[in-house]
Amino acid sequence: MSPHRIHFNSPRAAGRELANMARALESGHISGDGEFTRKCRDLLKQELGATDVLLTTSCTHALEMTALLLELKPGDEVIVPSFSFVSTANAFALHGARPVFADVRPDTLNLDERRLEELITPRARAVVVVHYAGVGCEMDAILAAARARGVAVIEDNAHGLFGKYRGRWLGTFGAAATQSFHETKNFTCGEGGALLVNEPRWRARAEILREKGTDRGRFFRGEVDKYSWVDIGSSYLPSDLLAAFLLAQLEQRAAIQAKRKALWHGYRDGLADWAAARGAQLPVIPAHCESAYALFHLLLPSAEERDALMAHLKARGISSVFHYLPLHLSKMGRTFGGQPGQCPVTESVCDRLLRLPFHNGLAEANQAEVIEAMRAFRPG
Ligand SMILES: *Cc1c(COP(=O)(O)O)cnc(C)c1O
Repeated sequence: MSPHRIHFNSPRAAGRELANMARALESGHISGDGEFTRKCRDLLKQELGATDVLLTTSCTHALEMTALLLELKPGDEVIVPSFSFVSTANAFALHGARPVFADVRPDTLNLDERRLEELITPRARAVVVVHYAGVGCEMDAILAAARARGVAVIEDNAHGLFGKYRGRWLGTFGAAATQSFHETKNFTCGEGGALLVNEPRWRARAEILREKGTDRGRFFRGEVDKYSWVDIGSSYLPSDLLAAFLLAQLEQRAAIQAKRKALWHGYRDGLADWAAARGAQLPVIPAHCESAYALFHLLLPSAEERDALMAHLKARGISSVFHYLPLHLSKMGRTFGGQPGQCPVTESVCDRLLRLPFHNGLAEANQAEVIEAMRAFRPG
């Protein structure tokens, strides 16, 4: 058993998950693209207004699909934030591209749009943005820079589902966006994801790539009388059992997002004076952004203080965790030319960042306990 009483993350059923899964089994269709996959897709498509939504086995696989849609050739470059999960870079490296690491803004920890243009070489094909913690990147500037140089924008929207930038949903700015339904995200089916296709020219091919390079989707719609191998592809369809689980979560999106918003504000209000006194930086949400409330993080003044605070919380049964390590300094990142000093903000924040318990089932009393334990921390 974990020594922690208050978990950093704890996946919860929102209500109808098991009933939905039983219905999928009774219907006799538990492979991909059944009734529940269609319902998840329709819900996301209607809510977000994306051209198309394809459920996938993970966000990683959805990112790999965008690499295939870009038709990357060896030597092509894809600009990615160094401060992100491995898949943001690996999905493109896997398909032959060279990741070019961008630094992030010190306030939102999102890709620094002010330094983007200098990274766009004639070999650049795409820029991948991550809306860290669910707060939108500066999409106006990023889209303008990308358009001016003819590179595509891809949103790794693993944190951003139902967040907004200037009143518009995150995930609807790039040519495509990717979602994650991993158990650590706002909405989950254990492992799962989605590809939001916004670029109409990519729609038909995305469907084929997901179905092992076949036109099976068209066959099921009665548009062709048999299906066959028409392109490259792989198997990126989740089981309808997982979609059945996921639908129950997505249908509760208003309640889930309200709960997470309340938790976020609970931490922010409960820690504001403490953070000011300690020199800790609380998360920043610019006025033109509505967060998706994916997580609650703070930056301590030093790595030593961060580690001491983690130990202090652990001694009280509270699990807190750090987050990304700089991709440009990883073993793989260095093979693509990553060097110390290349992304100074990323290098500085990774050692000082702490995430507090944050999940759909976190009780208010437990959050109050975390805040109290934080406020009792005396470093040194
Ligand atoms: C979680 C996450 C991923 C990976 O999601 P999977 O569904 O586990 O593949 C990718 N990018 C970011 C920013 C994430 O947070």
